[in-house]
Amino acid sequence: MRVKSFSGGVHPREFKYLTSKKPIEKIPTPKIVIIPLSQHTGAPAKPIVKPKDKVKIGTKIGEPQGHISAGVHSTISGTVRSIEPWTHPAGPTVLSVIIESDGADEWKRLIKPDYESRSSTMGVDESLTPFQIIDIVKRAGIVGLGGAAFPTHVKLSPPKNKSIDTIILNGSECEPYLTADHRLMLEKPYEILEGGKLIARALCAGGTSTSGGNAKKKYIAIEENKPDVIKKFKKLAPEFRFELCIMRTKYPQGSEKQLIKVITNKEVPSGGLPFDVGVCVQNVGTSFAIYEACKLGKPLIERVVTVTGNVKEPKNLLVRIGTLFKDLIEFCSGYDGEPGKIIMGGPMMGIAQSSDEVPVVKATSGILVQKVNKLSLPEDIPCIRCGSCVKACPMGLLPSKIKDYVKASKFEEAKVIGILDCIECGSCAWACPSKINLIHYFKYGKLMLQKTS
Ligand code: SF4
Ligand code: SF4
Repeated sequence: MRVKSFSGGVHPREFKYLTSKKPIEKIPTPKIVIIPLSQHTGAPAKPIVKPKDKVKIGTKIGEPQGHISAGVHSTISGTVRSIEPWTHPAGPTVLSVIIESDGADEWKRLIKPDYESRSSTMGVDESLTPFQIIDIVKRAGIVGLGGAAFPTHVKLSPPKNKSIDTIILNGSECEPYLTADHRLMLEKPYEILEGGKLIARALCAGGTSTSGGNAKKKYIAIEENKPDVIKKFKKLAPEFRFELCIMRTKYPQGSEKQLIKVITNKEVPSGGLPFDVGVCVQNVGTSFAIYEACKLGKPLIERVVTVTGNVKEPKNLLVRIGTLFKDLIEFCSGYDGEPGKIIMGGPMMGIAQSSDEVPVVKATSGILVQKVNKLSLPEDIPCIRCGSCVKACPMGLLPSKIKDYVKASKFEEAKVIGILDCIECGSCAWACPSKINLIHYFKYGKLMLQKTS
């Protein structure tokens, strides 16, 4: 089988060996959860509970506001203690619902019996229509679990004039250190592919018809550094009519635009979205969540998180949304030495935290602990015009030139040469011998363009 790849990209050290052989462990129900009402791209959800209200696992506590938004559910059973602003791992303080556990772990399932599967077998009720699948996904508050946290029901409802003929399940997991998707693919392959079938069925008619059908092409993309997963999917994927695409181990292999280009040879236009070229990419974790919602009536109340780096026992954990980072680190036997930096996600695109008292959100794929400033960039030294950043850029941009324009406040010029196409993957900064914090310039430049538009 041919191994596929894109041009550009970099090869940071992986460090996946720390957790790739560790099965997913379920962390005990936390005594308290802090659930932010904004964990997704789009408008924050509006609280629909008040202090002293009793809730169960799966009780909706936040109502989506508008089309691009997502519902939020309680992840434990207990009592609402308060609704107050709390630091969000993505940065700003966000209104959050704080719930104390009653220890009962009582459930409120999402779907009514007529949506439930008719059997106890692995498969999902074949009679679910596209409309019903999208409705369940929406009510489950599912968002993209690969990092972007875009509401999945929106992704499954492309505009009427866009027809999707290709589905790609993204199991690349190219960020160093992270193995949450790796373990999920190894331990839940049937469920992921069943979820893939549901995605295909939902998209075939944009959710407006009850006719069923399927996308013409269905792929699952896995990086070649996961031979155990590849072995499993080589056998299973054809049974579900998915084609296995083995991707070269290279960062950022899991980026949507790169995957689409490599697998379909289609290029998402500048400023466009995958549906413009008839493709829908879904992370394997999202596919699993869709399966659980449609089969078990489970809203998105938990996810797999890799806790790694300088903790005593790195692990892959199944964690309730809203559990504090410090509880996960404690479950991994604590910090291994003085923590210097705590990152949500991986070292390339992750977000540095100011404290470990922030909650796991739907987009938390990993928690990486680094010793004192191991990952911080040293002081910039001048650009030596070596071109390494240009070679590394998977989007074919000129990172050093964009940086020069931003530095000179020439934002329109930066726009002309493609700053808005930058996917902020960090490959250029990683490759730069002068250790220039290029991403900082790109984020700043984009912000300034947004302000002036
Ligand atoms: S310019 Fe943007 S897309 Fe290109 S390597 Fe740098 S961060 Fe990635
Ligand atoms: S890699 Fe760094 S030093 Fe080399 S051209 Fe790009 S910005 Fe300049």
